[in-house]
Parts: sequence; C-alpha cells; structure tokens
Amino acid sequence: MAAKQLAETRLEKYKEILLKEKEDTQNIINAINEIQKRGAKDGNGNLSAYSQHQADLGSDTDESERRVYILEKELKNIKLINSALKRIYDKTYGICEICGDAIPANRLKIIPYARYCIKCKEEEEQRKRRRK
Ligand SMILES: [Zn+2]
Repeated sequence: MAAKQLAETRLEKYKEILLKEKEDTQNIINAINEIQKRGAKDGNGNLSAYSQHQADLGSDTDESERRVYILEKELKNIKLINSALKRIYDKTYGICEICGDAIPANRLKIIPYARYCIKCKEEEEQRKRRRK
C-alpha cells in the first residue's frame, strides 16, 4: 500500500485545492442562509444565479424550496470535502476506497474529493441505477 501513497508535496497541493473548494462552498451556504433569513423578514429573497423558469415558478415557496435543495447539495459537498481532507491527514487520499488502486491525477483534478477510481465509480453507479 505504501507505494501508492501520494507524495507529501502533492498531498499539500490537494489540501490547498480542497480548502479553497470548502471556502467557496461555505460561501454559498452562508449566502443562502443570509437570503433565507432576509426572506423570512420581507418575504422576497432571491438567488438569481440559481433561479430557473422564474416566470413559470415565481412563488416564494418555489424559490425557497430551490434554495433548500441547493443548500442540501452544498452541505453534502462540505461533508465530501471534509472527508477528503481527513484522508489527506490520514495519507490515504488519492487511493480508491474500494479496490485500493491509485485514483488518476486527472480525475482528482476534476473531482478533488473523489473516493473511488473511475472503474469502481462506474460500477457503483450501475449498482445504484439497478436499485432504482
Ligand atoms: Zn477502484
């Protein structure tokens, strides 16, 4: 296993990326919380960057439901980022949790909190699809 560990310097690099990602995600969460708070007061919070079909679904309830949805998604992301950071401290980062192979660097570049290699991820997704 030891041979598959990422070099210290590369772990540092990924740590930086993950911390930045965490900050961005936290900012979105804070922004939504802020809007929710304000929305509760004047009933007119709006997160235009995420709004779609505003004309069709204009009511406050839909807006606020959409914000809850984004909030839940971002909170899930924070959890993924935190567990990736934990793997960096444990020095198991970049190793597939299923097969123990190294996760390719170009995959980590796109998804810095990836837990599985591409092969295992695809198998996992197929399993999920079958369950539906
Ligand atoms: Zn794997």
